[in-house]
Amino acid sequence: MRKAALVLAMLVPVVVPVHALAGDGVEESAATIAHEVGKPLRAWSEGELDIHHINTGRGEAQLLILPDGTSVLVDASGKTVEHPPFSLPSKPDASRPPGEWVARYAMRALPEGARAIDYALVSHFHGDHMGAIAADSPRTTLGGDYRLSGFTQVAELVPIARLIDRGWPGYDYPEPIDNPTVNNYRRFIDWQIRNRGLEMERFQPGRNDQVRLLHRPEAYPQFELRNLYANGVVWTGEGNGTRNLFPPLESLARADHPTENKLSLAFRISYGAFGYFSGGDLSSIDEETASDPPPWKDVEPPVALASGPVDVLKANHHGSWDANGIPFLAALRPRVIVVASRAEGHPAANTYRRMTSRDVWPGERDIFITNVSPATFATTYGVENAASTQGHVVVRVEKGGATYRVFVLDDDSEAMTVKAVFGPYASN
Ligand SMILES: [Zn+2]
Repeated sequence: MRKAALVLAMLVPVVVPVHALAGDGVEESAATIAHEVGKPLRAWSEGELDIHHINTGRGEAQLLILPDGTSVLVDASGKTVEHPPFSLPSKPDASRPPGEWVARYAMRALPEGARAIDYALVSHFHGDHMGAIAADSPRTTLGGDYRLSGFTQVAELVPIARLIDRGWPGYDYPEPIDNPTVNNYRRFIDWQIRNRGLEMERFQPGRNDQVRLLHRPEAYPQFELRNLYANGVVWTGEGNGTRNLFPPLESLARADHPTENKLSLAFRISYGAFGYFSGGDLSSIDEETASDPPPWKDVEPPVALASGPVDVLKANHHGSWDANGIPFLAALRPRVIVVASRAEGHPAANTYRRMTSRDVWPGERDIFITNVSPATFATTYGVENAASTQGHVVVRVEKGGATYRVFVLDDDSEAMTVKAVFGPYASN
């Protein structure tokens, strides 16, 4: 009984602002929070799982510190060009390109003594995730024949030991990929393999051992990173089995081939009772057509069903209008949603409404958005009630995974200053 009461107490939203906290059972939290707000985020410690959603205003980047200190960088942000009105302020400011801000963030957040990012995952081949290359992008100073943005820029400052994407080695699905950003990235890979010992792999749906704990796996048997999906291939939920969602490419006109966002890789992290979903720019709703789009284009629901419910969801496609559909959200039932925004319309009015509807799934939920523009405040109804609308969002899971907290960090400086603390939440 005692244990059940404890769990129930934790399910009650215990949330800042600090002055709102009161009553039995939360005073300790209030004291802890008061101690933490306004100060730098305490460094990661062994056993904790940290998930940093880094806001550069220019794309997505998530840095994960796994319980034994293994590090994973999922995407590296990277659109450098301002495209009014579809842009948000660069963070902390425009004095450095986004990939460099991500690298500097990583140097602050990586465990003491870490010499490299252990794994880098490229969710898909778009510039706001991997780093867009323009004619004036700076060249590497390491010696290779490539330019710097996103991942290639991160590697200039912090070595990347292993790189995993959806295309290696042929980069030919669903057709050969040929654009300045990917061509530059492939020259980077070739050079890094030859000169830095980079290990390169293609993301394989179904596996739970492609990204693994490298230092003390025996200490954390309750940790797993499961590859759920990429390139139309989804985990069946049994062993490492997979199935294809897409019909054979030969049966499709080229114009009907799956688009890049729908090929994004998705994974689930499990740590004890805690669950986290990340799926790049996966989407549900397809472009408007006179006839109904074929069902296979709705890739979100089968991926969410392969995952099962999670505590924390990184929203697909920056919370855009075409993503985070009802069946997807209903299958994941997140307690916390992080929207990594990079433009006006993030999150979109219809998407935010789905995320907040108790008809889609029951219970409380808190939504953290890395950046909300004035235009989005004016058009996305209710977004001002989100838990946070500005700042890096850090999910810190306690050792063993039973509870977690969410920290919002000031994104105007590199001081890692805690603006607000939410939780503890009980993992389900
Ligand atoms: Zn994107």
